[in-house]
Amino acid sequence: MIPFLDLRALNAQYRDELIEACTRVIDSGWYIQGNECKEFEKEFAEYCGTKYAIGVANGLDALILILRAYKELGIMSDGDEVIVPSNTYIASILAISQNNLVPVLVEPDIHTYLIDPSKIEEKITSKTKAVMPVHLYGQTCQMDRINDIAKQYNLKVIEDSAQAHGASFVDKKSGNLGDASGFSFYPGKNLGALGDGGAVTTNDEALADAIKALRNYGSHKKYENLYKGVNSRLDEIQAALLRVKLRHLDNEIEKRRVIANYYLENIKNSAIILPTLARTLSKNSHVWHLFVIRTTKRDKLQKYLLDHGIETLIHYPIPPHKQNAYKEWHNDGYPISEQIHNEVLSLPISGVQSLEDTQKIVKLINFKV
Ligand SMILES: *Cc1c(COP(=O)(O)O)cnc(C)c1O
Repeated sequence: MIPFLDLRALNAQYRDELIEACTRVIDSGWYIQGNECKEFEKEFAEYCGTKYAIGVANGLDALILILRAYKELGIMSDGDEVIVPSNTYIASILAISQNNLVPVLVEPDIHTYLIDPSKIEEKITSKTKAVMPVHLYGQTCQMDRINDIAKQYNLKVIEDSAQAHGASFVDKKSGNLGDASGFSFYPGKNLGALGDGGAVTTNDEALADAIKALRNYGSHKKYENLYKGVNSRLDEIQAALLRVKLRHLDNEIEKRRVIANYYLENIKNSAIILPTLARTLSKNSHVWHLFVIRTTKRDKLQKYLLDHGIETLIHYPIPPHKQNAYKEWHNDGYPISEQIHNEVLSLPISGVQSLEDTQKIVKLINFKV
């Protein structure tokens, strides 16, 4: 069986370093909001090229807290609108709803699966306060065009970078391409903890300060509550493990690029559409969190591959506007998003996948028409 992602093998590569990190935390006697979190925040900010990184409990909270902080700072209020792609993971949209803000869906580009900048302006109203580009599958959105629109209409740009640690646009990394960015360290992400974790990056000092308080009961100083905050902290043990994983992230990304390039060069089947690289402004724009192909015979292909011992996944099977959680959108049409959801299939890819396995997958796909 070739698994979609072998997390055990992936973390086994760093077993000794991970155990050393755990031991350090256990022996420190300090398990929340301590030195490991502080050091990870410094190292992750440096990696992204931002002034600040703030560790939080997960990626959804990172996005929720960015919007919440903008509300506390008087930049947004209940009922304001946030533009978000119609084909994203539900967390991007939940973060907006949970703040009593209104998600306004914009269709993606059918080739890159990223929000289509040419469709943003028509959705802007007097209530629009932000746009949330999602660097889906590990490729950055067209941030030059999105930032231009945001500047023109005075909108905040909030990146959902949960799938794009280390991805870049021209000379900057994701996390440093807008006003603020949310990251997830869910175990399967390119930078994954051994449990939940997340972070916000930003260059905005006021925003960083507000989020630092909001994640910790709204408090900068013990027993003094500036805001009605939440408990959303990054555990010391996860921070220590993430410091280890961060040191190896670029190498993991390189290994993913080798597999992605092998797929791109060797999959030859007229029924299959390979991923399209967005305008190649930089070689490093894509970090291949997912390698997603598209075919009208998706379900048949998935079954055929599984019958031959290859596990694939669908990211994602049901678009947000068709979810039970968002009944109010059931009659709205997002045909491009629907087509993508009906046709995409994610092939196995990771830093521990052998060339032999990749070759086997390609052979099977090329045989099946
Ligand atoms: C994983 C993910 C999130 C949420 O991250 P969690 O850590 O699971 O809360 C948000 N947005 C996107 C695009 C994701 O892939």
